[in-house]
Amino acid sequence: MPLSHLAKMEYHYRSLNLLEIGFSSYDPGYMKSPLWKRIRRRVFKRDKGRCVLCGVKRPKMEPHHLSYSVAILLGKRLSEIQLLCPDCHQRIEGDYGPNKRAPSEAREEFFRIKKNRRRYTRLPRRCRV
Ligand SMILES: [Zn+2]
Repeated sequence: MPLSHLAKMEYHYRSLNLLEIGFSSYDPGYMKSPLWKRIRRRVFKRDKGRCVLCGVKRPKMEPHHLSYSVAILLGKRLSEIQLLCPDCHQRIEGDYGPNKRAPSEAREEFFRIKKNRRRYTRLPRRCRV
């Protein structure tokens, strides 16, 4: 999968951080770990099983890391992990092929969508279609 230079650099940085906390890979290493299972459970509970961007509940929800520092990977900064439905996840990551965004770009996209969504929900009821 050809990735942008930025994406490659950021995924390399993730690998180094994972090595520092004892994982030799993201998937399956980290993703199959009891640590990630615990973090996942806490994120599901906090977000009540709903996508934080569109509000849907789906059988397969996807907690998304907004960045990959050691503290975040260890679950010490839970605000940087947000529950998303597969559609919103794909929307912020770009497609999963060559146009996949770097984590920092996906993070920007996440906050852009979240900000616009908040503006929408603040409208008085009569303005909604
Ligand atoms: Zn969604």
